[in-house]
Amino acid sequence: MPVVEAHELYRFFHVGDIEVRALRGVSLAVRSGEAVAVTGPSGSGKSTLLACLAGLDEPDGGMVTVSGSPLSRRSETVRAAVRAKHIGMLFQANNLLGHLSVMENVVVAQRLAGRVDRLRADQLLASLGLAERANAFSSQLSGGEAARAGLAVALANEPALILADEPTGELDRRTASAVIELLLDRARSGAAVIVVTHSAAVAESLTREVRLGDGRVESDYANARMVHA
Ligand code: ADP
Ligand code: MG
Repeated sequence: MPVVEAHELYRFFHVGDIEVRALRGVSLAVRSGEAVAVTGPSGSGKSTLLACLAGLDEPDGGMVTVSGSPLSRRSETVRAAVRAKHIGMLFQANNLLGHLSVMENVVVAQRLAGRVDRLRADQLLASLGLAERANAFSSQLSGGEAARAGLAVALANEPALILADEPTGELDRRTASAVIELLLDRARSGAAVIVVTHSAAVAESLTREVRLGDGRVESDYANARMVHA
């Protein structure tokens, strides 16, 4: 069973008289152990797809299932609960609540999933090289530390699904490859990982590339071999 399954997703936005068709029938299934790059030009629907997979946005048509739980057309409360338990999210920036320390950010994420575990939070921060920065606020972190702290929040509940929207977009090359290496490591440990990226190098380092064009899946390659289009 895939960790996340999107079936025929449609998402339209209305801006004045104009209808923007952000997603036009996108289907995608990602299994445990996969690390999938979602690529495509700006405006092709990548962020909309990720938001629908996370239950942060509701598709106008189609269905998202995460770890066997239907996410679409459920109440916000149910979506939030599924998200807290099963999904870790990572964005380009602003992954931390600024008025809380790094440790408090991790604990808040754990609390949302209903299982605070300080020892695990300690171990997680240590594994990301942040043991000394547990009490720092995001304004006090270097770029690399902030990236790893954001990852700590995303990984706080050992999510089955990790969704990252251009997580390396604002990082220097060394920090970027460290973040990608950590995401690949989660996939090796059994998570399903989806990374929206503009970087060909990032896409090539993952196990599969799904390219969007104009709200549709244009191609879907594993290990540089075409699976289907
Ligand atoms: P990408 O992440 O690939 O750059 P997006 O998913 O952000 O693309 O956007 C896809 C299309 O949907 C774009 O044309 C964008 O302008 C439009 N869009 C996205 N979100 C909204 C919104 N909230 N309101 C109106 N249009 C939107
Ligand atoms: Mg985007």
